[in-house]
Amino acid sequence: MSMRKKLVIAIDGPAGAGKSTLAARLAQKLGYINLESGAMYRALALKALASGVGLEDEAALLALAQGSRIELQPASDGNRVRLDGRDVSQRIREPDVTDAASKLSVHPGVRAWMVARQREMGAQGGIIMEGRDIGTKVFPDAEVKIFLDAAPEVRGDRRFRQKPDGSLPPEAVIAELRERDRRDRTRAASPLVPAPDAVIIDSTDMTIDEVMARAEAITAARQKQKAATH
Ligand code: C5P
Repeated sequence: MSMRKKLVIAIDGPAGAGKSTLAARLAQKLGYINLESGAMYRALALKALASGVGLEDEAALLALAQGSRIELQPASDGNRVRLDGRDVSQRIREPDVTDAASKLSVHPGVRAWMVARQREMGAQGGIIMEGRDIGTKVFPDAEVKIFLDAAPEVRGDRRFRQKPDGSLPPEAVIAELRERDRRDRTRAASPLVPAPDAVIIDSTDMTIDEVMARAEAITAARQKQKAATH
């Protein structure tokens, strides 16, 4: 059996910073499970759109969440997402759902429901969860906290390259990311901020291999520290 303790790794940051790619690669390397918390907000957003629940109606959104089964299944290219048993992995990445997820994530009641589910998922350790409030709210005791950032233009460009066949031109992708960031950073309930003890990685001028090397070094250092103190 490995002597290495299974850590909780929190990766936060704005949209398009490369969190999912980093989380998936790190998970593969460490034998951990990677969980995309944003996919849960997206799944609820899809359900709200499909059932006609208003994105301003916090009570109705919470009731909708409470009656939902949202499951994340790690896969090599991210998470497969099931909503009430149905695979919605592709659908939740579309622009209407992206926009709706950003809007409904401002509600404290919705966030509290999500946080409770996310804590259950991570209870065993050995997980990498990425999102906006993982290091600040979901797992404030996470052993590793990374805040992954990049200039908006670079994030928009990366997003565009991921989906060059998408309907939006690069400028529109950048504008959409900026708007989602603004909403995430300015909301009253768990706004997007680095946890005080997070390591900030600005990946503007870094390759994914370089980001990965930094993250591995941070994780290895924490594992060593843990092993020394236990
Ligand atoms: O990460 P992703 O872009 O898939 O997240 C979709 C939306 O869900 C984000 O724009 C953000 O507003 C919200 N979100 C959040 N807290 C998280 C993860 C995502 O508010 N932990």
